[in-house]
Amino acid sequence: MCTDKDNKYVNFIPVKSSINWDEYFMVQAMIASFKSKDPSTKVGCVFVDDNNHQLSMGYNGMLAGIDESKIPWGNDKGVNYELQKYGYVIHSEANAIAHAKCSLKGARVYVTLFPCPECTKQIASHGVKEVIYLSDKYKDSDEVRVSKKLMEMASIKYRHLAISKELISSINNYFIKMIDEIVV
Ligand SMILES: [Zn+2]
Repeated sequence: MCTDKDNKYVNFIPVKSSINWDEYFMVQAMIASFKSKDPSTKVGCVFVDDNNHQLSMGYNGMLAGIDESKIPWGNDKGVNYELQKYGYVIHSEANAIAHAKCSLKGARVYVTLFPCPECTKQIASHGVKEVIYLSDKYKDSDEVRVSKKLMEMASIKYRHLAISKELISSINNYFIKMIDEIVV
């Protein structure tokens, strides 16, 4: 026979989160990038406040509501600028800032690719204090050097965040299990 004393701690199971806040928001930025139609470069971002509440998110895409069939998605720079995607695409950070429903002052942003100078200027103008990036594959470009210079001048911290394949695999397994368990 169990006594109250024996049962006292029966439901006090040690628990821990499967994902930390940094990973959680970077994975959200990765999911946002997955929505982009850009065939060569998909970028996503999430703006977050000090309480770990999401403020806005975005991915690179064309202007909402326009006929995308009339816009080129190719990245061949050997043709007239009018026929390159660069003239038309809005970057993920600019999209997220444009659609934010509240101030981004003091926020941090998780982004899958280090921001370009144009987005960095917008990030700085809106008072964002930290940039956390997944990839810095253009780190040797003049553009990224300018972005970093701008961030340093504007006192915006930036840091790299790695996402492990083990985490992605465990999220994948979790989703598959979730789908498998749905009884319709
Ligand atoms: Zn940009």
